[in-house]
Amino acid sequence: MRRTGPSLYLPEYGLLVDTPEESNQQLADRGLAARVLLWTHAHPDHAAGNRVVQFLAQSAGRPVLGLMPEPLYQAFAARYPLEHLVGSGYLDLRLIAPGEPQELDGGLKLTALAHRMDEPVFAYAFESAGGRGLYAPDHVRFLPPPTGEFDWVVVQMPIPPLEALPFPLPPEHEAWSKFYTFDEAVALWRGRTRRLVFTHVYESVGMTPEELDAVAARAGDWVSFAHDGMEVGGP
Ligand SMILES: [Zn+2]
Repeated sequence: MRRTGPSLYLPEYGLLVDTPEESNQQLADRGLAARVLLWTHAHPDHAAGNRVVQFLAQSAGRPVLGLMPEPLYQAFAARYPLEHLVGSGYLDLRLIAPGEPQELDGGLKLTALAHRMDEPVFAYAFESAGGRGLYAPDHVRFLPPPTGEFDWVVVQMPIPPLEALPFPLPPEHEAWSKFYTFDEAVALWRGRTRRLVFTHVYESVGMTPEELDAVAARAGDWVSFAHDGMEVGGP
């Protein structure tokens, strides 16, 4: 089992959310060619592999469609060659307004949801005939919880139960203000999604895949920790 940087791919729409460093390899290994790209924020673990845009456009012979929440543009363009990707014809970039649903080809509706933070961070809600999904891989504690029911929810992993953690986490540790606890995350989503997947699995937590699986199992088989290639959606 491998866990590289967090991203989400919707195969029905050729849509990729976030480009961690290994994105090109991840897509190539699975024979996938993304046609639409979204980004949640400009941190390197979610965006540093953005050169994949060039490879995708070159092999498709046309630009990749990029949808970006307008408040994210400046931070993103300051760190990455966004203008180069657009200017070279690799990226057809369209700025979108947070909170306003966007209709894509094939009947997919997506909405960028702003986190309550000074820096621009976004989650995405998806709606299609196949169901309703949420992707919020980072800083999820600062996302106002979206309303309604979901078929799948993929969110930043919470703090595992303390007795499962291989190290002590003192009460003054900043993690408590930045992350949900496992129990909080499960309580937030229980009965509101058919499937809950925790992503952005931190190596610093030092837990084996088996240990994480055992934590998820405490809540039931609707909860799991993500890994590369995991399939989430589906009817
Ligand atoms: Zn991150």
